[in-house]
Amino acid sequence: MHPFSITKVAHTRDALNAGRNGGRYIAGGTTLVDLMRETVERPRTLVDISDLPLRGITVTGRGDLRIGALVRMAEAADHPRVRTTFPVVSQALELSASAQLRNMATIGGNIMQRTRCTYFRDVTAACNKREPGSGCAAREGINRTHAILGASDSCVATHPSDVAVAFAALEARVHLLGPDGAERSVDFADFLLRPGSTPHHEQDLRSGELITAVEIPAHPRPLKSGYLKVRDRQSYEFALTSAAVALHVRGGVVREAKVAAGGVGTVPWKLPAVERQLIGERPSDALWAKAAEQAADGARPLEHNRFKVELLKRTVERQLRIVGGSR
Ligand code: SF4
Repeated sequence: MHPFSITKVAHTRDALNAGRNGGRYIAGGTTLVDLMRETVERPRTLVDISDLPLRGITVTGRGDLRIGALVRMAEAADHPRVRTTFPVVSQALELSASAQLRNMATIGGNIMQRTRCTYFRDVTAACNKREPGSGCAAREGINRTHAILGASDSCVATHPSDVAVAFAALEARVHLLGPDGAERSVDFADFLLRPGSTPHHEQDLRSGELITAVEIPAHPRPLKSGYLKVRDRQSYEFALTSAAVALHVRGGVVREAKVAAGGVGTVPWKLPAVERQLIGERPSDALWAKAAEQAADGARPLEHNRFKVELLKRTVERQLRIVGGSR
């Protein structure tokens, strides 16, 4: 591990000052400390923000559900409002990492976590994300777990977060505070960036900006929702494929559909073509299968992950059936 200094701050303005001067924010530290040990990350200054007042889960005047950036994953998963209104979020969190990590890791940190690509974590391998311009060892290497959607010649790594898939499906927004005190919010779909030719730029974050909350918009029609994760083993493993599904069915017809996939894209992958197939139709096993056929549209598999194309379709179909019912 490279030498670094760490400052604990109690006030948001102190955090922003430190961020403006190049300090790197840390809270749960469950990803960053790992990467520092492996010398993949080498921050010189850490700013411990875990005492900042960014912890609550509240409902805004508009009825949106606001989850503070420093809410622990376990707290968010257990929160009665999250559990009853958006079970897809609770389930995605509970299927992530381990109980110990969920007790430490925060929502803000979760969406900021870096890829699990093994070449990224191996400092002897070429990796454009770790060292821009050095190449991508995964393209010609072992790429079974890598992306089939949204990749570029520069990078084919998947985004590892489960709850980010649920946030993408529900069209959440990320709230940010800049060093000059300016607030802004970004659609979740725009916050995480596809690699293009600059895979080291992973989020739409300006220098020194702090994530303050993730907000899930109120849905006037109640949604039935859930998350399915397919992985090589049943615990403490990242998704090969996953599906976040939320549906509103009334009068025997699908009125609203929100679907996103994980484990397959360089970012959580919203599936608008699947959603369009569902709206206005009567729920049936045939409908779920027909809609899921669109899930892998545009996929460009690599040598070792061709199986993900079919697996993704089946994951989406199965989760539509679980949420929408079998008939
Ligand atoms: Fe690095 Fe991305 Fe290639 Fe993995 S896929 S080696 S993270 S550039």
